[in-house]
Amino acid sequence: METEHPDIRSMTESELAEFMAGLGEKPFRARQLYEWLHVHLAESFEEMSNLPAALRAKLSESAVLVTLRPVEILTSKLDGTQKYLFGLSDGNVIESVLMRYHHGNSVCISSQVGCRMGCTFCASTIGGKVRDLRASEMLDQVYRIQKITGERVSNVVVMGTGEPLDNYENLLRFIALLTDEKGLHISQRNITVSTCGLTEKIRALADEKLQITLALSLHASSQEKRKKLMPVANRYELGDVLDSCRYYFEKTGRRVSFEYSLVGGVNDTPEDAAELHELIGGMNCHVNLIPVNPVRERSYVQPDRTTVLKFKNILEKYGINVTIRREMGRDISGACGQLRRSYMTDRD
Ligand code: SAH
Repeated sequence: METEHPDIRSMTESELAEFMAGLGEKPFRARQLYEWLHVHLAESFEEMSNLPAALRAKLSESAVLVTLRPVEILTSKLDGTQKYLFGLSDGNVIESVLMRYHHGNSVCISSQVGCRMGCTFCASTIGGKVRDLRASEMLDQVYRIQKITGERVSNVVVMGTGEPLDNYENLLRFIALLTDEKGLHISQRNITVSTCGLTEKIRALADEKLQITLALSLHASSQEKRKKLMPVANRYELGDVLDSCRYYFEKTGRRVSFEYSLVGGVNDTPEDAAELHELIGGMNCHVNLIPVNPVRERSYVQPDRTTVLKFKNILEKYGINVTIRREMGRDISGACGQLRRSYMTDRD
């Protein structure tokens, strides 16, 4: 962001109070402003009707109000899933997804512009990482979607573009603001953070003792296979990654989710399933199988339905909790990061 002005939607309530005091404003004005930012989900200072015009003018000169601009919204005719392409103030675009379930609306947000983790099946990583998202830019994906649809968002998954634990401080700030009882007050239990497995950050997150769900992108049952799919595995031994997940469970009491993208002919055999059981059997966990979403730039294919079901049955036979991820919004451009990717290539 070009401007050096403070980003007020990223401020905690006490930081905002301090900022307003610096402007010579009374504490109740800070509370009103906080409510405009995090309850009314205001887009601009102008709409903050109970603030005096002079204060609104002063704020627009001394602070930045981060509000995302919807560039494109695609709606699935099959299940009502929506994909949002949002523009940021520096011209970058990011992608978010709204999924409508019986238990409520869930929003999948991006944590970075691009990603530097390099997973070989993922579209988000193709152009590398451009930059981290600010807390306000993560929050406003949820805020804009709630505002545009007029429907309450009850669940948030940090599973869009980017590696959230590679943007750790902003992630924690985002979670604090999103769960704040004076803001949208989304329950910590309704937030999931997905990581490719940065073990030192998983341990740090565990020490925060939050009640959020940790999802680990496992995708392979041996170090060798994992390295082929996920370059990040060159830095972290699988055993250590799983130890950090055990530590997360010990500290928080929250069952860890393992994500396993099934890639045809790569990690989908009965032997892979048996090896997976060897690896995680006995852990208090849940396995989410995701038939890989083919990405235009990559050559991976989905296994057929029988192979997927067989894989699931083997894990179930071992007593492992397992589900196959329901595919949402199939008709509105498949996998993570593909909408942003196609938007960028169309403009190249
Ligand atoms: N960086 C984080 C979160 C973003 S990706 C992480 O690695 O977990 C969210 C999930 O989608 C991860 O499990 C990721 O491996 C998976 N994913 C990415 N591209 C995919 C694709 N083409 N098909 C299936 N799953 C994919």
